[in-house]
Amino acid sequence: MIEISHVNKWYGPAFQALKDCTTSVARGEVVVVCGPSGSGKSTLIKCVNALEPFQEGEIILDGIKVNDPKTDLPKLRARVGMVFQHFELFPHLRIIENLCLAQEKVLGRSHAEAIAKAEKLLDRVGLKAQANKYPAELSGGQQQRVAIARALAMDPIAMLFDEPTSALDPEMISEVLDVMVDLAREGMTMMVVTHEMGFASKVAHRVIFMDQGEIVEDALKTDFFGSPRSDRAQKFLSKIL
Ligand code: ATP
Ligand code: MG
Repeated sequence: MIEISHVNKWYGPAFQALKDCTTSVARGEVVVVCGPSGSGKSTLIKCVNALEPFQEGEIILDGIKVNDPKTDLPKLRARVGMVFQHFELFPHLRIIENLCLAQEKVLGRSHAEAIAKAEKLLDRVGLKAQANKYPAELSGGQQQRVAIARALAMDPIAMLFDEPTSALDPEMISEVLDVMVDLAREGMTMMVVTHEMGFASKVAHRVIFMDQGEIVEDALKTDFFGSPRSDRAQKFLSKIL
């Protein structure tokens, strides 16, 4: 589903943020990406849906080459859901409108179709009662669940998450993780940057550990937690577990 081959990326002429990164995510697979701050995790997943360009290598998303000048990037991005640390909802739109906008503008759905889909998804993330509120009237955890619902409204082929719970108060983390766990169990293809190792151990199939722009480990979950091969991963795990 997601094939990343020998990707090298520089910010500016001198700073290399990704170094020969190669990995893949199969259909229905859940891959957790972890590693120290500045190791390139966000950069890697932004390259997957072409929010960041990269200079060398190749990324293929469901058969479509991301770094091909002929690829229709807005169309490609519409097929991949992305959820960030900060919820990035449209502040001037009601929750229901946040969920309808791209369905209508990008997918060309009718308003009635978009509303029906939005209501179903809001129900699924436990927020049906909040449909007519504005983002600022919701808690951080609720806003993040709206962001997930909004991404799902586009019927994505895969979901990318970049530290979706790290800006939340502790009591709100689990309500967001619960939605993500359900999604994983339903077979969604997911690439998740997170330090929530509880989530990783529950639903991840594989764990990727990055350091200084390199994929240092790419292992089955049990192998990663059982016996990380590199000193760097061992040190990282000993700090966060
Ligand atoms: P964190 O855990 O703090 O989110 P990260 O692993 O996601 O870190 P990235 O945000 O991918 O790391 O950044 C990797 C490196 O690239 C860092 O050294 C960062 O300073 C640098 N970097 C990121 N974005 C840019 C940018 N737009 N321009 C220049 N350098 C950047
Ligand atoms: Mg990051």
